[in-house]
Amino acid sequence: MKNYIYADNAATTRLSDKAFEAMIPWLTEEYGNASQLYSFASKPKKAISEARAIIAECIGAEPDEIYFTSGGTEGDNWAVKGSAFSDLARKQIITSKLEHHAVLHSCRAVEMLGYPVLYLSPESDGTVSPSALEEAINDKTRLVSVMTANNEIGTVQPTGELCRVAHSHGALFHTDAVQAVGHIKINVRDMGADMLSASAHKFNGPKGIGFMYIRRGTDILPYADGGAQERGHRAGTENTAAIVGMAAALSENCEQLDRNRAYIKELECLLMGRLSQSNISFIRNGGADSLPGLISLSFADKDGEAILHRMDLRGICISTGSACNSVSTEVSHVLSAIGLDDAYAYGTVRISFGKNNTPDEAVRIADTLADILKK
Ligand code: PLP
Repeated sequence: MKNYIYADNAATTRLSDKAFEAMIPWLTEEYGNASQLYSFASKPKKAISEARAIIAECIGAEPDEIYFTSGGTEGDNWAVKGSAFSDLARKQIITSKLEHHAVLHSCRAVEMLGYPVLYLSPESDGTVSPSALEEAINDKTRLVSVMTANNEIGTVQPTGELCRVAHSHGALFHTDAVQAVGHIKINVRDMGADMLSASAHKFNGPKGIGFMYIRRGTDILPYADGGAQERGHRAGTENTAAIVGMAAALSENCEQLDRNRAYIKELECLLMGRLSQSNISFIRNGGADSLPGLISLSFADKDGEAILHRMDLRGICISTGSACNSVSTEVSHVLSAIGLDDAYAYGTVRISFGKNNTPDEAVRIADTLADILKK
């Protein structure tokens, strides 16, 4: 029996039982290299092709538009660098100030090579407005990259509208959908995106695997040169077990999407209701359109890290902001971008529920947090 409460599902999630079981044969007796020509390779080859079709269907794509990667970081690097380096006439990149570092640092890397990058400021709820993009974009813009949903405050972006603005100026549109895929409905055709990156460990799949959707006909450079895997776009021996596990986890989450969403929203309401009754004052960051169960709370003149450690001592895992930022003592770039006062920004914690959390846990988290803050 577990003796802790895990409420940091935006950082990573527990591998689903279905995904685990689906992976076992490919880690044991079926270890063949899917790229080989003998019959021992035909099973992994078939399993990979089935996984590609399952993933494509979950996001409204065609199988040949799905490319396996090592996760969200690789997909984001690929989208930014692969677009920048494939068209030397149109060099500008537009992104937002609240992107994940995988996008921001990729942008910084191409900036150092002479590519102009423009960082849009979001509104105070974290929304990147299509009219701000319309003002910034021009006929030299190669790529617009705006995330589907933010990992620190949960804001869901108007990606369809942003994509239409990008396309009306001949630019490509990429979205980092790492926090969104498997949690909210994503249809790449409806959105219109040219590229979308996703990561399995955020939707109860294994770590170290993800995928990129690249719309058929999109002209971007391959991510890794080498063998001919992934139609020559991403060299390297396929990780059959992880690919199969990712597809199993995604199809399970997509089947249960509405049910999970409603359930997680209930946990969120329970926690928020309980906190509101506890007479502690806080700000909730993010907008009305937010990821279910991602709750970013700021407490004035408190230390988010100290709160995290006290919660940890009482058996509860939450985060101070972005998981990838937990070693940094600087205030989060996302909280700065939405204009949150430093007095609140330093006292920010993120609670993120998943389908494995229970109502009892939501109550315990709220009560423990209130107790710690009162002390
Ligand atoms: N993009 C976002 C929005 C994320 O939240 C994360 C992980 O926290 C990443 C990208 C990186 O994904 P991965 O851990 O698969 O490299």
